Amino acid sequence: MSDRVPGFATLAVHAGAQPDPTTGARATPIYQTTSFVFEDVDHAASLFGLQTFGNIYTRIGNPTNAVLEERVAALEGGTAGLAVASGHAAQVIVMHTLMRPGDEFVASKKLYGGSINQFNHAFKNFGWQVVWADPDDIGSFERAVSPKTRAIFIESIANPGGVITDIEAVAAIAKRAGVPLIVDNTLATPYLCKPIDYGADIVVHSLTKFLGGHGNSIGGLIVDAGTFNWSREKRYPMLCEPRPEYNGIVLHETFGNFAFAIACRVLGLRDIGPALSPFNAFLILTGIETLPLRIQRHCDNALAVAQWLAANPQVAWVSYPGLPGDRYYKLAQKYVPKGAGAVFTFGLKGGYDAGTKLVSNVRLFSHLANIGDTRSLIIHPASTTHKQLTDAQKVQAGAGPDVVRLSIGIEDKDDLIADLDQALSEA
Ligand SMILES: *Cc1c(COP(=O)(O)O)cnc(C)c1O
Repeated sequence: MSDRVPGFATLAVHAGAQPDPTTGARATPIYQTTSFVFEDVDHAASLFGLQTFGNIYTRIGNPTNAVLEERVAALEGGTAGLAVASGHAAQVIVMHTLMRPGDEFVASKKLYGGSINQFNHAFKNFGWQVVWADPDDIGSFERAVSPKTRAIFIESIANPGGVITDIEAVAAIAKRAGVPLIVDNTLATPYLCKPIDYGADIVVHSLTKFLGGHGNSIGGLIVDAGTFNWSREKRYPMLCEPRPEYNGIVLHETFGNFAFAIACRVLGLRDIGPALSPFNAFLILTGIETLPLRIQRHCDNALAVAQWLAANPQVAWVSYPGLPGDRYYKLAQKYVPKGAGAVFTFGLKGGYDAGTKLVSNVRLFSHLANIGDTRSLIIHPASTTHKQLTDAQKVQAGAGPDVVRLSIGIEDKDDLIADLDQALSEA
């Protein structure tokens, strides 16, 4: 082996994996076991005291999951990763590591709807207060920071509206505030954008979407960039104070630039418990092997469909940052030059009725509430995910009566366009 730094496609296939040392198995085996036998009493004690790395119990770590953690950390350019049961679990574990009751965090108000719910409701039960900022007004992040702020949270490409956030500008604000920047990179994936290159300190993923990529497994992942100085800020007791759970060790002193990932594992995942099944880790790893091929195809198809829709007389508007003239086109050229992702919205001149007819008439597209599948997906938010909101709230959330969301798959683009064409003619 030479000293070459492997490219992205090579890492997507190989990072973290090697032939199984006992059997020679070339694919990463599914270590479907709850627990692992200790060599002797001293080995057991050193594992429990964090003096030795190794396997204890699958809630805390598992060898299949470890390959997934190393692979995604390598693709993102971070120091370490932690796999968990879902994207939402990743967000809980990250915030549990950073926040105490009464603390605040600043979040972009253009986020996946599930995250908005989680921050507004579930997190308040922990005493973690969200303060919303507007990615279209970067100064609003600075104004939202207070002495209680412990983190800033954004999405690189926001789900579903095709909003591209100026990561570098928000990272500069986080630096001045002395808090880590967390970027949810689910929609971009590291193939399109690596937030750590622009100043992110923590990256979170829903593996459920494009990383797994086949619509068959829920999973989440946390990447530690290794960039944040936890000891200097003295605001993060999980990282810079002696831990009674582990004989008084200070995680940042002991583990340096991967202390955050360790804290998430041994203080978060261990005690809160949303462990990823090794079977799901196996499926998601298989998906990641083809990530560069799939995402390029997703993006090329999405651009073709967006262009076709933009020229269709029944369509009022298309919000896809890959289209010249889109308000996020310039930011897309900077942050996602290979393609603006595969999830976007458009508006129908026929409003609510045209939207429900379209989703009823498609044959190849699947009408469902997910994104990031090999298959093309469609949803009319006003009649489904956002149905409980008032009309004004729907419009505010980007889910007005005319809005249709697409997640473009990797089929032949001409078949996708033909399907939309027949469904629109019926509508
Ligand atoms: C789906 C999604 C999540 C939540 O992930 P789950 O795996 O469904 O828990 C978080 N962020 C974004 C951007 C998502 O699309």
